[in-house]
Parts: sequence; structure tokens; C-alpha cells
Amino acid sequence: MSQGVIQSSVRQIILKQTKKRGFDGHHPWILEHSIHEPGSTPAVGQVVDLVREDGKFVGRGLYNANSRIRVRIYTWDQTEQVNDGLFLRRLDRAIEHRTKMSTGEPGESMRLVFSEADQLSGLVVDKYSEHIVVQLTSAALMAYVPSIADRLYELYRPISISLQIDERTAKSEGMEPQLKCLLGSAPIEPIEIIENGLRWHVDLNAGQKTGYYLDQRENRLAAVRWIPDHANVLDVCTYIGGFALTIAKNRPNASIMAIDSSEKALLTAREHAELNGVQERVKFINADFFDYLSAQVDAGVRYDAIVLDPPRLASSRDNLQRALAAYHRLNFLAMRLLQPGGTLVTCSCSGRVSRQEFRDMLKGVATRVRREVQIIEDRGAASDHPSCLSCPETDYLKCIIARVL
Ligand code: SAH
Repeated sequence: MSQGVIQSSVRQIILKQTKKRGFDGHHPWILEHSIHEPGSTPAVGQVVDLVREDGKFVGRGLYNANSRIRVRIYTWDQTEQVNDGLFLRRLDRAIEHRTKMSTGEPGESMRLVFSEADQLSGLVVDKYSEHIVVQLTSAALMAYVPSIADRLYELYRPISISLQIDERTAKSEGMEPQLKCLLGSAPIEPIEIIENGLRWHVDLNAGQKTGYYLDQRENRLAAVRWIPDHANVLDVCTYIGGFALTIAKNRPNASIMAIDSSEKALLTAREHAELNGVQERVKFINADFFDYLSAQVDAGVRYDAIVLDPPRLASSRDNLQRALAAYHRLNFLAMRLLQPGGTLVTCSCSGRVSRQEFRDMLKGVATRVRREVQIIEDRGAASDHPSCLSCPETDYLKCIIARVL
């Protein structure tokens, strides 16, 4: 069937009348409770039309009976087909945007595709120097992976393209976790990338996310701007040294304490400090953030700048309040450790916590510690991780840079 013709043979899934309003905003996730359970279950990945109870077309997407997200919508246009052609057009458009922001420097790494923000719900593609990692968060997209990989190869001629499906996603989508090479030869050893002029060794086989937190790239550099030379800095949740080493490199007289609860991450962080020649000024400590910060408060220590970049504390709406309480406690301890006028770089990567909720949490902390918090920058993920208005979850990373007066 050619483009522009209405796909009449497509299986229909009926949206509950009560849920209709929510989809006027074109959010691409259709959850199980929003639809009438179909008589016979469509296969995973089957193209379906979402229709209203009166038969009116709403959108077209892919079905997955094993996922809470029953249908991911890829088009709201009844004349557009959901097939390889659509996914490749979207892929090309996503890459066109990244090409504009590329400097072309050797070792450059960036996110080429960011799921819903590129109208490719469930697909993330990261490029690490000359290696590409395709990450699926939707089992329904599996059938399109070969053509996506072929197009990526055609465009970049990378040394390798691998497929990654992490355990959590696999479970929620009813598929097997995977880490396999699709094209070329995948690196066994960590590979070197360059970010903000620093060298990093990224293990594509065992790292967190697709190997490294590319989303904080611009925030690491932004933080430096508000940290004076000679500053005494604390980097909480440093992972492989992201903020700590970027600050050390750009502030040659600063001394930095960096903590994380993963010894493995800290081993790499120490290697990175040497690789970038800043090992004399950065100290890495294996500690739990609550324990460490409380002990520092008790000991009367003070810092000129503190970075807080905890893992995702809210994984669902259900534990939102608990997560906000944890953010509150963490920020409360940090504010108590800051000198008057000190810089706080505070992040949340929980998509479930809205920007407003995060700011309200900070306001609560400020009131409690009786300090004025002057927001200097209210930032998000780097520009290769755009967010889209229809899917607020894409605005998942909050990074507020503030002065605590
Ligand atoms: N700041 C990093 C990314 C941090 S990711 C960067 O710029 O790349 C979150 C980190 O928090 C992980 O490395 C994880 O090991 C660490 N973490 C998780 N729970 C922790 C805890 N209770 N105490 C300290 N670190 C913790």
C-alpha cells in the first residue's frame, strides 16, 4: 500500500471514552487501562490503529501485550503507514539535527536518537567516538532494528554497532536482556572518547546507561563557570568522575572531594584523573551520600561548591513522595555544608519529578535552612537530548545551578 492511502486492514484497538481527553496532547504512550482489552491479542509489534468508541481514528502505532505501555503511537496521521520507511525517515531527521551540532572532532560522542523526543518512542542511539550503541526500550521495535542498524552503518561507517536491552526494560517489555554486536566488531576493552577537552575511557560492555552519562556534558562545563578557582568542591555521585574532573581541569587551583557508592566506578574515576593529569587535586571516596554528608555536617566541614547528581530516585508515580523526601534530605545536608554564597549544582534525572516539583522541593529546603537560594541557571539535558512537549517525561533531567546565600 502506498503512502497517502488509508490503511484500512489495520487491526483496531478501542480507546476508552473516559481516556479520550488525555490523548488530545498526542502523548505517544497508551497504557493498558486506557483501552478496551481486544478479543484476541495482537502479536508483539503488530501495527494497530487506536480508535475512539465511535470508530474515529486517533493514532497508529505498535502493540505489545506484555508491556504496561500497550501501544506506542508513531503517527497521528491516518494516511501515514508505520513501517521501515517511517522509522528510517525519523532516524534521518534525528541525525540531521545532531550533524548540525557536531564539531567533527575525533572522539566526539553524542546521542543520535532520543526516543519520544525524536518521535521514535523506545529507541535510543548513542555514538561513542566510532562505536554506536542502539538501546531498545520497546520490544515492539525489535523487527526494525536490522534496517536501523544498516542505515546507521551507511551514515557513519562505525567500527561497531551493538544492541543493548537492559534488565529492567527487558522485564517491563517482556523480552530478554541483550548486549550483542550487530555489525562490525564490538570493543572488548573500554574505548576512549573526548568530552569538553577531557579524555574518558568508556566501557560499552559494563557501564551504566549506554556506557556514560552523555546528557550531563553541557552541565559539567556550565558548573565550572560558577565555581571560583581555589574552591573547595564536593562532587556527590561522581560515577567515573564527570563533574569532578571537568572542574579540576578548568580550575587548576581547586581541590575536589568526589564520592560514590560504587567502587568499580571509582576505580575508573581514579584512572580518568591520571589520564587527564589532575590526580593530585581530586580525592575519591567510596561512601553512601547520606552517611557521608551527615558526618561532614557533624564535623563542621564547609565547601565553596557542591554538585549533587544522584541516581533516579523516583522510578514511578507511587514512590514520588518518598523520592522527593530523599531529594529534600540530600539538598538539606548539602546546603548546610555550603559557605555563604556557595554554589550548589543540584540534579534530578527522575522523569517522574517535574521541574516545578523539584523547585518546590528546593524551596522547602531553603526555608528549612533559612537561606536564600538564588537560581542562576535552570538547565536540562544536553542539546542532543531534546525534550518534546507532548511527552513531558523527555524533560527528565533537571540541573539547577544556584547560589546559596
Ligand atoms: N555525576 C555522574 C553521574 C552520576 S550517576 C556523571 O557526571 O557522570 C549516579 C551515581 O550515583 C552512580 O555512579 C551510583 O553508583 C551512585 N550512587 C547511587 N546510590 C548512591 C549512594 N547511596 N551514595 C553514593 N553514591 C550513590
